Amino acid sequence: MCTKWHVPLCSLRAAFYAAILKKIRPVGALVAAAGRGRIVFSSNGTPIRATGTTDVAQDNPWVSWASGIAAGLFATLFPSDCRLCGAPLINVSRLPVCEDCLGAMRPIAGGLCSICGERLISPFAFAAEDQSSESGDALCGLCRRMEPPYVKATAYGSYDSGLRELIHLLKYNQVRPAANVLGRMLVEAIEDLQPLFSGSEVLVVPVPLHFRKLRQRGFNQSELIARAALKLKRATQLRLGAAVLERQRETKSQIGLSRHQRRENIRGAFVVAKPAEVKGREVLVIDDVFTTGTTVSECARILRRAGVSKVYVATVARTLKTEAQHAIRQSEVEVRLTMAAAG
Ligand SMILES: [Zn+2]
Ligand SMILES: [Zn+2]
Repeated sequence: MCTKWHVPLCSLRAAFYAAILKKIRPVGALVAAAGRGRIVFSSNGTPIRATGTTDVAQDNPWVSWASGIAAGLFATLFPSDCRLCGAPLINVSRLPVCEDCLGAMRPIAGGLCSICGERLISPFAFAAEDQSSESGDALCGLCRRMEPPYVKATAYGSYDSGLRELIHLLKYNQVRPAANVLGRMLVEAIEDLQPLFSGSEVLVVPVPLHFRKLRQRGFNQSELIARAALKLKRATQLRLGAAVLERQRETKSQIGLSRHQRRENIRGAFVVAKPAEVKGREVLVIDDVFTTGTTVSECARILRRAGVSKVYVATVARTLKTEAQHAIRQSEVEVRLTMAAAG
């Protein structure tokens, strides 16, 4: 399902449909019945869910018939599978991911730390007085011990299964159309922060890559996602400052490092390239994933040192560690109960 021909085939597929649909497309979204379900053609080339869209095809049997033929013909000539679940793709999209997989990437729900966005697992801890800040907002243990250098960090979804794979498609498989979908998710994270903005212009700063990594990958995924989000949002209050930060030192992979080791690894990796541009301003730092928060915290720390008044953080995904710890604890409890029952 994953071949080096995939991206060229996707472009060819889109061009093929575009040529046909140019002749028959009415206005707006075009929905056709074909294959295992309905196909949705969106104006930006990414799949949208059929629910709630106008079924133009029902009113125009010619459109339905021609689109069905086009979809079937292309699927026969250039078969392609969803890169996440392997289901055959029958919709017109430059993104090789099916609607079901995209629809399964839901926003994080439940009680979260009001600063870093970590999940607060226990409803008792959530309500406890010593878990809260002076304003009464719930805080996780880490933020209670040491307040981060940013005002608030929000993420769209949990960094697991589908969303992680979608981010990997962009970062490691060069599937650039994924940035548009991730940008749409980032817009939701930014909207969560918006009530906190003071009203003046906010500088949007993607976490930079070291130039060697940038040359190797060809793009900075955080910048692509930030650009996609700003294009969708069209907010005059937000302005991209892609060259504000620079990564002056290459860092080794953070995977497998403890929190302390991560902090040591990242310390001094970034510099503010344009301090005059940020002094007294509010900055929104953008990254694809918030893992332990060490990277965005380091960016926030040096931005604050350069005179930035407030730093906010928005990421597409976030690792919810307490979820894993909670699951481990649950399984330990289950083992103990089983042993007690057996004894
Ligand atoms: Zn799928
Ligand atoms: Zn926290």
